Amino acid sequence: MDSVGSMRTQTVEVCAERQLHWVLAVEEPRCVDTHHDHRLIELHQHLDRVVLPNNTAITAVSFAPDGTYLRDEEPGFGLYLDPRWNPPWPHAHLEWPDFGVPADPLCVESALHHVLSLAQSGKQVEVGCLGGHGRTGTAVACLAIISGMPPDQAVDWVRDVYCAGAVETAEQATFVETFGATKVSTQ
Ligand SMILES: [Zn+2]
Ligand SMILES: [Zn+2]
Repeated sequence: MDSVGSMRTQTVEVCAERQLHWVLAVEEPRCVDTHHDHRLIELHQHLDRVVLPNNTAITAVSFAPDGTYLRDEEPGFGLYLDPRWNPPWPHAHLEWPDFGVPADPLCVESALHHVLSLAQSGKQVEVGCLGGHGRTGTAVACLAIISGMPPDQAVDWVRDVYCAGAVETAEQATFVETFGATKVSTQ
């Protein structure tokens, strides 16, 4: 509808090794290393309010292909799972490889607890990666578990309420289930 480019879909080529991406057939390739496993992703814009099972709302976002940070209202805090993000509002990055899972689930858990407590205190909080599907979808599913969702339902739930493309790989789906198990065992 307007400048945020809602529902515009672009094909983006991603180099996970160098954390680069470019819009296919529009931008020059930023990496041409043939030893890399480049992937193509359909990038549609996400800037979506998601209400967690405990009624706390967060915003799940994809990175705008042109790198802009247009919002009706600036978030109070952003947790970003991709190093491309550098917005003008308070934010933190979580190390989380593209198409993968983070090495340290405890780090994820404490970052997500932080996000949740800010959101519960009334701050507008967003979580984003590049496409808004794999890493963001996995993080939102984990937020749902922290908020009371049974772990074995969290992947279906995030695909239902947020985007059918959320949680991209089997490894990420397993991470969600294991995240739930870890949480239960530490209680
Ligand atoms: Zn590359
Ligand atoms: Zn989507």
